Amino acid sequence: MAEVKLVNVSKTFEKGIVAVKNVNLEIQDKEFVVLVGPSGCGKSTTLRMIAGLEEVTSGELYIDGELMNYITPKNRDIAMVFQNYALYPHMTVYENMAFGLKLRKYKKVEIDERVNEAAAILNLEELMDRRPKALSGGQRQRVAVGRAIVRKPKVFLFDEPLSNLDAKLRVQMRTEISKLHKKLNATIVYVTHDQTEAMTMGNRIVIMNKGVVHQVDTPIDLYNKPLNKFVAGFIGSPSMNFIEGTISYSDRNLLFTSASNDLILHIDESKYPKLKSYNNKKIIIGVRPEDIIPSNNNGGVGNYSADLEVVEPMGNELFLYFTLSGVQIVARVSKEFVFAAGDKINLSFNTDKLYFFDKEMGQSIN
Ligand code: ATP
Repeated sequence: MAEVKLVNVSKTFEKGIVAVKNVNLEIQDKEFVVLVGPSGCGKSTTLRMIAGLEEVTSGELYIDGELMNYITPKNRDIAMVFQNYALYPHMTVYENMAFGLKLRKYKKVEIDERVNEAAAILNLEELMDRRPKALSGGQRQRVAVGRAIVRKPKVFLFDEPLSNLDAKLRVQMRTEISKLHKKLNATIVYVTHDQTEAMTMGNRIVIMNKGVVHQVDTPIDLYNKPLNKFVAGFIGSPSMNFIEGTISYSDRNLLFTSASNDLILHIDESKYPKLKSYNNKKIIIGVRPEDIIPSNNNGGVGNYSADLEVVEPMGNELFLYFTLSGVQIVARVSKEFVFAAGDKINLSFNTDKLYFFDKEMGQSIN
């Protein structure tokens, strides 16, 4: 059993810098939870408080029901993997992995057994006598993970462990860590600023901004049911498009009219019952890039036209950039379509898949 629970946890640094504000979070036994958000949102500070490397300013932190606020890091039964790996350069792979156990006065036989077991899990057996400088980035990362595994801790904490790796290796290590989670059946709290990493690895994701938790949910629910504009814009790549405008009734139809009056969408009221209360009020609509349907002008359908400014070929799909209602919009289409910058395109919107947000507070009104 290894549950982690944060109750109203806050962290204020010197000079009144508030890094984390009233975070409430329950991480279940064996869960893989990812803390994600932009730089400075407080995710590392939250992780470091769980590790005991930062004091909790107010609130309570529990591991397995036991209050941890005043327990030193080494007595918390957690292991942390850092972004810079923090390997000892003068020690071999074996020694790096064994070091923590030696400090804790484990017997040599037990150390041997645990290190060899971790090396087998992580494919490090051939590298045991090498020093870190003779390893690739991915291999060093594996040693850092191995050092955590040998401890058999209650909870693993990962702080941006893949950000020093190149893109290809990052994807490979991502799947390795996911597999490792299944193999070890461990509770993992993982910090990243990369939403793709969060979406692909986490059982649940905690989205933070400016020290505050905005939503805690499964990847699919975050994508489909964002609670506010921040979450909607953060999850999804390319990001959701946002257009400001007004909701109104015309002949019993619900209409969205953009601020510059050049985009008018007919909306099926039954699909968005909460919109009624926003009659004649300013709101923001959100449209995912895949829910804007472009076609070439020649015989194409669509209610709006735009000049295609940039086309990004991604291999299996294209990202199309253009301006509509005074804002930059991106649409994604399959590679079968042929588009080029400078084309005039027609557009239609999948109005069944729109998101609506309060203009002032940003909360979802879907
Ligand atoms: P990043 O992705 O850039 O690492 P983060 O989301 O992990 O960012 P934190 O490192 O938790 O963010 O920092 C949260 C806020 O607390 C930031 O505004 C940061 O400047 C501030 N902060 C962090 N550590 C300290 C410190 N030791 N003293 C003062 N302020 C700090």
